[in-house]
Amino acid sequence: MGKPTVTPMMEQFLGIKEANPGALLFYRMGDFYEMFFDDAVAAAAALDIALTKRGQHMGEDIPMCGVPVHAAEGYLLTLIRKGFRVAIAEQMEDPAEAKKRGSKSVVKRDVVRLVTPGTLTEESLLEARRHNFLAAWAEVRDEAALAWVDISTGEFRVTPCPLTRLGPELARLAPREVLVSETKEGDCAEIVSDMRASLTPLARASFDSQAAENRLLALYSVGSLDAFGSFTRAEMAAMGAIVDYLEITQKGKLPLLRRPIHEESGSAMQIDAATRRNLELTQALSGGRDGSLLHAIDRTVTAGGARLLERRLSAPSRSLSEIHARHDSVRFLLEQGRFTEDLRAELSRCPDMDRALSRLALERGGPRDMAAIRNGLAQAGRIAETLSESEAPALLREAGRALVGHDELTALLDAALVADPPLLARDGGFIAAGYDDELDQTRQLRDEGRGVIAKMQAEYIEATGISSLKIKHNNVLGYFIETTATHAEKMMAPPLSERFIHRQTTANQVRFTTVELSELETRILNAGNHALEIEKRLYSSLRQAILDRAGEINEAARALAEIDLAAAFATLARSESWCEPKVDDSHAFIIEGGRHPVVEAALKKTGEPFIANDCDLTEGETPAIWLLTGPNMAGKSTFLRQNALIALLAQAGSFVPAARAHIGLVSQLFSRVGAADDLARGRSTFMVEMVETAAILNQADDRALVILDEIGRGTATYDGLSIAWAVMEHLHAGNRCRALFATHYHEMTALSAKLDGVENATVAVKEWEGEVIFLHEVRKGAADRSYGVQVARLAGLPHSVVERARIVLDALEKGEREGGTQKQAVIDDLPLFSVSNTPQSAPKPQGDSALEERLKALIPDEMTPKEALNALYELRGLL
Ligand code: ADP
Repeated sequence: MGKPTVTPMMEQFLGIKEANPGALLFYRMGDFYEMFFDDAVAAAAALDIALTKRGQHMGEDIPMCGVPVHAAEGYLLTLIRKGFRVAIAEQMEDPAEAKKRGSKSVVKRDVVRLVTPGTLTEESLLEARRHNFLAAWAEVRDEAALAWVDISTGEFRVTPCPLTRLGPELARLAPREVLVSETKEGDCAEIVSDMRASLTPLARASFDSQAAENRLLALYSVGSLDAFGSFTRAEMAAMGAIVDYLEITQKGKLPLLRRPIHEESGSAMQIDAATRRNLELTQALSGGRDGSLLHAIDRTVTAGGARLLERRLSAPSRSLSEIHARHDSVRFLLEQGRFTEDLRAELSRCPDMDRALSRLALERGGPRDMAAIRNGLAQAGRIAETLSESEAPALLREAGRALVGHDELTALLDAALVADPPLLARDGGFIAAGYDDELDQTRQLRDEGRGVIAKMQAEYIEATGISSLKIKHNNVLGYFIETTATHAEKMMAPPLSERFIHRQTTANQVRFTTVELSELETRILNAGNHALEIEKRLYSSLRQAILDRAGEINEAARALAEIDLAAAFATLARSESWCEPKVDDSHAFIIEGGRHPVVEAALKKTGEPFIANDCDLTEGETPAIWLLTGPNMAGKSTFLRQNALIALLAQAGSFVPAARAHIGLVSQLFSRVGAADDLARGRSTFMVEMVETAAILNQADDRALVILDEIGRGTATYDGLSIAWAVMEHLHAGNRCRALFATHYHEMTALSAKLDGVENATVAVKEWEGEVIFLHEVRKGAADRSYGVQVARLAGLPHSVVERARIVLDALEKGEREGGTQKQAVIDDLPLFSVSNTPQSAPKPQGDSALEERLKALIPDEMTPKEALNALYELRGLL
């Protein structure tokens, strides 16, 4: 057997592939990125493109697929979304160079970039209004920390984070990618995948805290990190891992990273992953952005403002002074309606400077990004002026200060760039006329080559006095001066002969050139290329001028986002009639006329009114608990959630959907929903519910706000009731926090008589001619009954089934009243169900029908209302 052949190209491919494990390799071949072997198979399936073959390797066909370079971004996005990482190998030389080395020689190729979910910067790959975080979690001895960066804006932060807090912190940040040491992969894999982030294990060396410190010192060109704050070894390691990873993926081109900000662990309201999901803060339970709080309240007009809103909602403040300063700005802008509208009009013209800047830093930007900075800074100046003329409160004045002082750069960019430059520097055409003399001349030559020649011809006619003299062009001589033999003599004699150099004599004509003309010729021929070169040189110097002021530009962008957000909150407060909440360090929680912003917005579309409700979780100086009962669909969950959202909005700096609100600072927000509602997650839901409830009971302090919706219903009635009961007692006596507790266990209403600070409330319904009418009104007191059967009827259950359910219910209730716990006996005594008396019934089959069998198997007492409803649907299906 002959030696299997490996072509030089394949050898190169395999070498690059080996150096970049775990990534699909986009291998540049001319106008395509090609993929081979398993990469090709995987990519063809993921991208739904044709899988072909190309040559053989070790006697086997090589599978191949490819995407055109000009359309590569779209394909990249699909691959990244599907969880792939992509290494991009470019041709590092002109193919002609390779040919010169010999016919077998391959074009040099190298990976210029590793594209991963957390390291995107392209506008087309990013959502403008959301952050794209890359996080790293490190543990050094008994300390642990989480660092994160958005390389598309340069934001870089770090916070202490033991493993137990990793889930909640990741839930807050929603990073796209999380780096951990390979030794810690096992500890983190599930937490990370729960957050739908992609986990990237790195070698331990990437997390070495000493190496990390050196990396950071080099990155910021400082001798010590003290100026940025003091960091633990774990924090250093986490930040170092991020820097290391960026170096690997960006192949040495580091993005612009702002100086790291140390976040204290207690600075934000703590909200865990389940609570975020359940309150649908930034994402609806259905998965999309629609239906989330963020979507319902976002009135920002800039991408930076939208990203800031997302950050604020994800991490509401716990600092009273910060919250008050933010409310001051909102109040001011609300009172200055006209002014705020003008301000927003100016803001809406501000481009996304953060992202433009980061692309420029990574050499992935272009003239349009420079124009974004020019326009952004110019707008910033205008906005600062508007603000300075007003009586704005401190926060806005401070933001205003970051907006000024950019005149020099703005003037430079103004002079240098055309109004509307192209996306890429590649083809030139972005430097404005009048900025650079050499460029102007070069362009003139390029564009008006002929005109320049004509001018020169006129000049020569004048100089020689030969009116028939012409400048012509042919492929052999290029440009030349031509005259008839008669006139030629004059030109070949001094003084003209000093200037005109003889080139050729033909039958009738004599041809000359001049130093000037041949220079002009070269310049015309090269003008195009030359103009491009000059533009590129100018591009680099402009880029440098911008990067030199990166810090200030970042500050200006941050200030614009702050102003935009305050104005957006003011606009929201005005249009939705929200009020300024009073937030202080008491334990109050008094809401008058509270509303749920998302449900209200949804109802508005149908024309139905939203019924506002009060809530008061204060008993004297101490926190109180409300126990809320009421039938399904009455509005219990809505009420619970709206109160949680009001607290969250208040501390995020917004006004709130209420007529009046007084909130003692909330340190932690917890929200849980009974397992039956949590079907999507496929684990043992009751177990999850209990684990999550345990987390609340173990963690909630006296400043927590806890919302429990139907806890305990994932199990049999008496189990569920006992658990709910005990949880309630623990919240009351142990956690002593403010809480809202919704339950369908009417037995629990007895607790209010036993425990101080526990009040009953119910969502009122009216019964009218056997139907329930939902009033959505929350009142003090206990609900008298559950109305489950009536709700079933509303759902369109056959009359016979509703009637039967009513009989079963009556019998069971009677049994209970008579002290019978002998449910089985009650059930045995029930008159038989018969479908035959219903008009739509089919002839009754022999023995029990499936419907009857199913119905007999039901034990209503052990069912939650939701299970009962589901069972009814199932029964109906059996008809
Ligand atoms: P429950 O938790 O009691 O089963 P929900 O809170 O899910 O009930 O509310 C059911 C529906 O009732 C909501 O989808 C909403 O359309 C409506 N609703 C709830 N609260 C109100 C309210 N305060 N005003 C008007 N409609 C409401």
